Amino acid sequence: MKTTKIAIKLNNCCDNPPCAICGERTDPEAGPELFLADSWAVVCPRCAEKHDPVIFNIWAKFKRRCFIASLFQDCRYDGDQYVREATNLV
Ligand SMILES: [Zn+2]
Repeated sequence: MKTTKIAIKLNNCCDNPPCAICGERTDPEAGPELFLADSWAVVCPRCAEKHDPVIFNIWAKFKRRCFIASLFQDCRYDGDQYVREATNLV
């Protein structure tokens, strides 16, 4: 049986190719994404989780951290809490 090796590679392409394994949409983002190890063929998170849960979990952790960082990027740390300046109040 052929094993599918999956790797995290830095994606710098704006393409939206289908998953190399299942053919579903992938919606890859710039930055670390999931690929087949021996090519630049994008793999969707579902297939990555199925074929290589370890790599998938590393990638998922990174994505979660980026998401949290993006939530806090326009906040300032004020003593013991993050505060977001409200700019749209009339
Ligand atoms: Zn897939």
